[in-house]
Amino acid sequence: MDKKQLPLAPLRDRLTQYVKEHDLRKTPERYEILRVAELAETIFTIDDLMQLMKKHAKFQVSRGTIFNTMELFYDAGLIIKHALATAAHYELRTDCNPKAYTICHQCNSIAKVSTSTAKLALQNLKVRYFNTEDKLLYIHGICRNCQAKNRQEARKKKQELNKQDKNKNGKRKS
Ligand SMILES: [Zn+2]
Repeated sequence: MDKKQLPLAPLRDRLTQYVKEHDLRKTPERYEILRVAELAETIFTIDDLMQLMKKHAKFQVSRGTIFNTMELFYDAGLIIKHALATAAHYELRTDCNPKAYTICHQCNSIAKVSTSTAKLALQNLKVRYFNTEDKLLYIHGICRNCQAKNRQEARKKKQELNKQDKNKNGKRKS
């Protein structure tokens, strides 16, 4: 069996192992941040995590601590870091399934595409001589909300133009 296909150990255990292997202190902050991050269930930014910490954490930590902890989590393979043009987005790395995301270039929102769709698109993608850890696909475009907003704005513009035309025609007639 392919080594990469093995399921990943629980996040807490992986953090404990990383801390042990790197002779780091087993600080309660790291475990609390991880516990709260697990409540996010989806992609989150540092700001999102700060909000979650305010609501659910047993004690508060600084933004700097969260940022540094995210870097540690990333090094430990606990999170996926989405390096986007806007703020960095994070996601807990609970499995090695292929993942796909849509990124709206109008509102900068990022959303996860269903796992089955991502699997279908990426399962056969293999790169020779490269030890693949994660397969991530980014699809850039315009999200549903922005499409609706754009349609509404286009309609409004058209109505205004029609009104202007009618006014012009009316004036011509009189
Ligand atoms: Zn959008």
